[in-house]
Amino acid sequence: MADVVRLKNHLETLGLDTILGIFEEETKKALETKISYTEYLARLMAEEIITKTDRSINYKIRIARFSQIKTIEEFDFRFQPQLDERLIKELCELVFLEKAKNVLFVGPPGVGKTHLAIGIGIKACEKRKKVLFADAGKMIEELMLSMIEKTLPQKIERLARYDLLVIDELGYMCVGKEGANLLFQLISRCYEKVSIVLTSNRSFSQWGDMFGDNVIASAILDRLLHHSFVVQINGKSYRIKDKLTEKDG
Ligand code: ADP
Ligand code: MG
Repeated sequence: MADVVRLKNHLETLGLDTILGIFEEETKKALETKISYTEYLARLMAEEIITKTDRSINYKIRIARFSQIKTIEEFDFRFQPQLDERLIKELCELVFLEKAKNVLFVGPPGVGKTHLAIGIGIKACEKRKKVLFADAGKMIEELMLSMIEKTLPQKIERLARYDLLVIDELGYMCVGKEGANLLFQLISRCYEKVSIVLTSNRSFSQWGDMFGDNVIASAILDRLLHHSFVVQINGKSYRIKDKLTEKDG
């Protein structure tokens, strides 16, 4: 009995909470099934690793601040037949991230750009990468605030410490020259160092109008596109798919 108390204290000290919760039951089972000491220990350790891994992935997903949780597995590729499923699956392998390349999802509303961007972001969290999701408009607002507070360099350095920045919905809000300039500074800093997954409902030819400045638009595009995968989605909106079916039917 004293041994059990001592063991419990040790497990608690080491933070091996899963083993602490299951070892008594597992000891009983081990005695009944006569498994070896080694196997018994290996079993307990495996359980601890599983919970610890889950916890650290959940933590990564939480701090990434995704607007919603959407996985690639939930994505219905049959609904978007023109989309290259193989390319998306390849992107999920995250080789692009190791090479600090970018991924740009471009297309009209509702085709799944944000869903896919988040799905890839979650895959990166599962590989213990440091990910941050941000709405483009909010990201630019935050950069502006930092500029006003004279902390812009620090803010950009902080963002450059991530492995992956997911910048969502560029184009919904009017960006303006100043916003474009700030975005340019961030994107230049990340160039060939930090991967960016970006979604936009505006085609590249419209970026000049979106930023109110053709020069800055091409400077941003130049850096974003140099090492990148561009996924153009032209299909139907998933948001109104039921309405389309009703009409078709
Ligand atoms: P976008 O960013 O292109 O406007 P979203 O990714 O926000 O579109 O998609 C709109 C909604 O439809 C989301 O709830 C998303 O999960 C869902 N959705 C879009 N395309 C698909 C798809 N092919 N399979 C499953 N859900 C989808
Ligand atoms: Mg979107």
